[in-house]
Amino acid sequence: MCGIIGYIGMKEAVPILLGGLKKLEYRGYDSAGIAVLGRGGLAVSKEKGRLSALESRLAASPLEGTLGIGHTRWATHGEPSDLNSHPHLGEQQKIAVVHNGIIENYRQLKEKLVQRGAAFQSETDTEVIAHLAEQFYRGDLKETMIKLSEVLEGSYALGIICADKPEVLGAIKKDSPLIAGLSEHGAFIASDIPAILEHTREVYYLQDREIALLGRDSCEFFDPQGEPLIKEKEEVTWSLDSAEKGGHPHFMFKEILEQGRVLRETIQDSLWKGRNHEVLEGLDIARYRKIVITGCGSAYNAALVGKYVFEELCRVPVEIDIASEFRYRDPIIDASSLVVLISQSGETADTIAALRLAKEKGAATLGIVNVVGSTIAKEAELCLFTSAGPEIAVATTKAFSAQLVLLYIFSVHSAAALGAITKEEAQILGEEIQSLPDKAEEVLSSTGMIQKHAASWVGKKSIFFIGRNIDYAIAAEGSLKLKEISYIHSEAYAGGELKHGTISLIEDNTLVVSIASRKALYPKIMSNTEQVISRGARVLLVGNAEVSGMGDDLVQLSLPRVYELFSPSLSVLVLQLLAYYIAANKGLDIDKPRNLAKSVTVE
Ligand code: GLU
Repeated sequence: MCGIIGYIGMKEAVPILLGGLKKLEYRGYDSAGIAVLGRGGLAVSKEKGRLSALESRLAASPLEGTLGIGHTRWATHGEPSDLNSHPHLGEQQKIAVVHNGIIENYRQLKEKLVQRGAAFQSETDTEVIAHLAEQFYRGDLKETMIKLSEVLEGSYALGIICADKPEVLGAIKKDSPLIAGLSEHGAFIASDIPAILEHTREVYYLQDREIALLGRDSCEFFDPQGEPLIKEKEEVTWSLDSAEKGGHPHFMFKEILEQGRVLRETIQDSLWKGRNHEVLEGLDIARYRKIVITGCGSAYNAALVGKYVFEELCRVPVEIDIASEFRYRDPIIDASSLVVLISQSGETADTIAALRLAKEKGAATLGIVNVVGSTIAKEAELCLFTSAGPEIAVATTKAFSAQLVLLYIFSVHSAAALGAITKEEAQILGEEIQSLPDKAEEVLSSTGMIQKHAASWVGKKSIFFIGRNIDYAIAAEGSLKLKEISYIHSEAYAGGELKHGTISLIEDNTLVVSIASRKALYPKIMSNTEQVISRGARVLLVGNAEVSGMGDDLVQLSLPRVYELFSPSLSVLVLQLLAYYIAANKGLDIDKPRNLAKSVTVE
């Protein structure tokens, strides 16, 4: 998420910081800002919106100085606004910080600071860092950062400058990326290589809780206890374009690979504690006689998975609908209904209309969105946030996965609240959810086999996806992903429905992806699989059903074991990779498929 840059050197900082922030734009942001230490002390300029807005402000009121920090913010706590933009200053205006990440215990820290009389300017979690830094500062930035790392929980990459220390740029990180680099005219910190590539190709990667103190011609590093550390510098050989994608050929691939982390962060913020957890605690699910989940595209597919999971765990009926249908069918909802609205951007026009209609009819509304400060986040009565970070590729991957995991947590939480499962069962299910990030990483670490198969499917005119129950839901997502980026025709069918239609399209060498993760339904989906094989299809079986006697017509990709209802989080990874590799083999513009837009703000 977001971007950080810091500079200390011989040149004016502002042009270098702005140049660096431009190179970090691809990471997504909603506001930007810069702090420079000049003759008059620390000066800050920040602005909601695009970098050009900040540039105009700086052109009108220039900042001078050769030490500075810059930030593009992607709001997680507090809406995008001038005030919430970084850098943030402490009360004495002595220390300025830029932060990338989420401080999970910021509420507790803020309460204590407020009790001591601190006044806060913003709604961000970050501002507590600036206040604490000033409280800890005794003339030594290294000590200040060590103390910060002792109290801050969550993720952070920090750039810190202090009015007392014109010769030092400080940095520390945990669970958010940060690099340092030294050029002929100065030293840098940055979230990512592109920001500094113009100035140097020699970079240092900071590890968690390591500290960097940069001078005009030096980079010094320290371990978490403050002992000096010798770090190896690494030579960057990538081009600028591939550097923006972390060395990957496409943003979509990068985002697919990020999913372990995204799941981990979303779970951390939702399961036993965190912002989403507090929202769920405040939701009196027993009040609602009807639950409706709605969304568009992949968000609708997430709703489909959510229906199976919620109904099975809570034994409460769930209605799902495509948002553009829901809004025009005069849905039967009232004050006893809860309408859940899923949208990555929080700006999907049809989903916003569904939200407004639900409110008009007196229903309670719960958003599941990725973008803080978006329309749905603001207008829904309650909102759960996916911690996916900005998603650049048009075809969603990591935001979808985060939506799924929030739907599981919502379902488990509701089931426990309704007494449909015991506390002990909720605990066990919670542990299963917690095991998902590692298992997702296991799936993502073995992409070779999927890549190999995908290469031979490039010429297919049509690919079918079948599954039953949650596997049908995830088949729908696999099929959509394939269509979106590879332009290959595809259909997803419930296994049992095949013989009522689509089976007429199966002929020699038709490819069918069959998903099988529900033990009780193995015999059923396997007989559907045999039905297509006997009509000439070749099958990729995703899941752990036992297979016998299907010879070369079937290839199986097994998945790590997990509680069955949560298996879509693993099978979807295979389907995303499949779509990705097929499209990559066709040489298509994967990140920007034709005719599609990332956030569909029109009807
Ligand atoms: N959590 C911080 C905020 O909302 C930092 C977000 C970011 O990484 O851009 O301001």
